[in-house]
Amino acid sequence: EGRSIVFASGKGGTGKTTTVANLGVALAQFGKEVILLDADLTMANLSLVLGMEDIPITLHDVLAKEADLKDAIYEGPAGVKVIPGGLSLEKVKKAKPERLRELMREIAQMADFVLIDAPAGLEMTSVTALLIGRELIIVTNPEISAITDSLKTKLIAEKLGTLPLGVVLNRVTNEKTELSKEEIEAILEVPVLAMIPEDPEVKRASAYGVPLVIKNPTSPAAIAIKQLAAKLAGIR
Ligand code: ADP
Ligand code: MG
Repeated sequence: EGRSIVFASGKGGTGKTTTVANLGVALAQFGKEVILLDADLTMANLSLVLGMEDIPITLHDVLAKEADLKDAIYEGPAGVKVIPGGLSLEKVKKAKPERLRELMREIAQMADFVLIDAPAGLEMTSVTALLIGRELIIVTNPEISAITDSLKTKLIAEKLGTLPLGVVLNRVTNEKTELSKEEIEAILEVPVLAMIPEDPEVKRASAYGVPLVIKNPTSPAAIAIKQLAAKLAGIR
């Protein structure tokens, strides 16, 4: 069984999908077998960031018992495998999130790393996402409102038996008003694993539908994400 890591935040828009997409590609570039699972069932957009088109069968069809898991696994950039979510509301209504847990047992057998893109908040689908990963990485921005939401997410994950590995600080600008790495580690009681800077190349890459680590591998955010991938893969 491979590692299953859920990327969650509490607050929305902190950079979970961006991190999962690019970290997945970077791990695949290191030769790891990687599956990316879009567990943001109501706002699925992982496949868009990865520039994947033509997705007839999605996780939603599998959760609605209308398709087999194997038919919802696609090959993305750098050989990363992706289980995308459906984009239509009709599909969202039919899907049964409770089924994710049993599906996950199957998915975890298929790769070295399963990275789970979780929804924001602490609604049922978010809690389900926290439950299906063995490990948690919190993706947050270095501001107090995001950190307090992240703390709630971390506490719930721990109650569910998911191990918090650490924090990814995203959109770091080093302005004086930002909380420092040390302050954030003290509040969340987990290490900061990566500091990804605010980088206009992130939005450009996603507009092109090409992951940043491929489109612009020397941009500051891409470098930070590749360093995180090396850390997770045990490469120095
Ligand atoms: P989430 O999945 O947590 O909702 P996203 O990954 O979709 O967050 O990111 C939200 C927005 O922030 C997107 O428009 C994305 O392009 C932008 N973004 C994410 N990380 C960065 C960054 N390091 N620098 C600049 N923009 C970023
Ligand atoms: Mg997202």
